[in-house]
Amino acid sequence: MCRKIWYSALIVCFCKILFISPVKAEEQFVVEIEKGISIFVSPDSTSTILTVTSQKSNWTILHTSPNYFEVSNGEIQGYVKTKESHVLFPETVKKFEVYAASVPYYILKNGKLLEKGNIFPGVAWKRDGQTDEYHIIHVGNQLVYVPIEGTMPTSLEVNASAPRKAVIPTTLLAENHLPVFSPEGERLGTYPRSYPVAINGIDGEYAIVNFIGREAKVPFNLLYSKDLFQGAQTVSHSEMSFYTQVIHAMYPEFTELKQIGLSLEGRAIYALKIGKGKKEVLFDAALHAREHMTTNVLLEMMDSYSIHYRNNASWAGYKPREVLDKVAIWFVPMMNPDGVTLVQGGMKAVKNGELARKINGGSTNFARWKSNVRGVDLNNNFDSEWSALNVSAKKPAYHLYKGPKAFSEPESQALRDFINSRDFLSNMSYHTSGQVIYWFNWQKGSDLNRDVGLAGKVSRLTGYRVLDPMYLIGSGSSADWFIQEKKRPALTIEISPFVGDRPVPTSYWPAIWKQNHKVGMFIATEAASR
Ligand SMILES: [Zn+2]
Repeated sequence: MCRKIWYSALIVCFCKILFISPVKAEEQFVVEIEKGISIFVSPDSTSTILTVTSQKSNWTILHTSPNYFEVSNGEIQGYVKTKESHVLFPETVKKFEVYAASVPYYILKNGKLLEKGNIFPGVAWKRDGQTDEYHIIHVGNQLVYVPIEGTMPTSLEVNASAPRKAVIPTTLLAENHLPVFSPEGERLGTYPRSYPVAINGIDGEYAIVNFIGREAKVPFNLLYSKDLFQGAQTVSHSEMSFYTQVIHAMYPEFTELKQIGLSLEGRAIYALKIGKGKKEVLFDAALHAREHMTTNVLLEMMDSYSIHYRNNASWAGYKPREVLDKVAIWFVPMMNPDGVTLVQGGMKAVKNGELARKINGGSTNFARWKSNVRGVDLNNNFDSEWSALNVSAKKPAYHLYKGPKAFSEPESQALRDFINSRDFLSNMSYHTSGQVIYWFNWQKGSDLNRDVGLAGKVSRLTGYRVLDPMYLIGSGSSADWFIQEKKRPALTIEISPFVGDRPVPTSYWPAIWKQNHKVGMFIATEAASR
């Protein structure tokens, strides 16, 4: 018995704390109550009636809750159902809060109000005007409509900051009713299921959004994409970082994101794993600066594979989820971020621009640049008999120079250490020149048969020509080093016809994607049997 009393006391107590908010004494908010309305002793359905109004009159609100206002007319103090009272909103009132469990909000489109989502109690909203039934909020040049019913004037401060602008405009979809939070974590409202959410930035596990004109955030893992990335564009290091982080943030349950190192100038080199397979293969791209179209190939694979993995859907004759849960793919979309930034943005875009200009023979046109920012060709810096490698460039240059020693560069060290930290069954290294496939580094016996066979299959998939062995002694290529160290296949895949000493034009993209879209699925499937 004792316990029962204690429980009910506790419940009453919580009700007060959770549902009744006091109104500041100095602010007088008023409800109009019609004749014949009940005023109750307590704010619940079992309450006895204190009195019934004898005429239409104004009452002051003392406390609010979703279903009842505590009101006073100077003589009587009691509770009225919110539905049976009418909150007065003088034009001079510039802010409001929600007292109902939630209220919808709308935008005006083609003369009709289109419901966009809900807003919650506990937060103040500014208003710029009103109609008979709606508050009006200006958001840019858009008008947002919030029903007056369910809201009341507020003494709370409008504690909101202006929303940031998107650096990389991206729209994702809400998987379900999507909770929206303030930057401090207060619940602001919701977006409805399938709502297209414009993303203005990343804050860890949250996506930054503009919620009715204020900065807000939503959980990334409740968002998904139908098509995040389009390949026919020049992709900067920031964009690569953004897309890679977004894919991981949307799908943390089947992806893993690693920063495998930093470039000479401190740019992040990211690796993203897709799939839960215990076996793993590695794809890398843009070791050569001007060959940044290869970054697009990997990003588009990451985008397509992750979407179809999420949907558990068939794609291009494969079931990405089944494939990647046997063999996961690690993607390193941009191995040479400084070099790519130099090619795309010129000498002002990097810290070592002046050095690069000197190395470039005084020219500020870096379209031909392949090396890292200090003139080391990273694909001549790996150690596959590196000391025997003889190239024409004996000092830093836009291409070819092999560096003062093997693995002298932070970028080649990062890839080497990443490869040594895992157990990759194969490595596809993406380059651009000549639509050919390199595969040979002195393999023998069954390894030779395995690797020439694999190169042939990728050739049939892509249409690229398998190069005959050249029997060169001394190499600094990452794929040659992988073959030598791991005794496993590594292909250098060159995705474009020769276009001269410059980046591949984006107009080549559709053909390149058609040739390469299945390669990840094929390579993962092939590795499953080894
Ligand atoms: Zn290359």
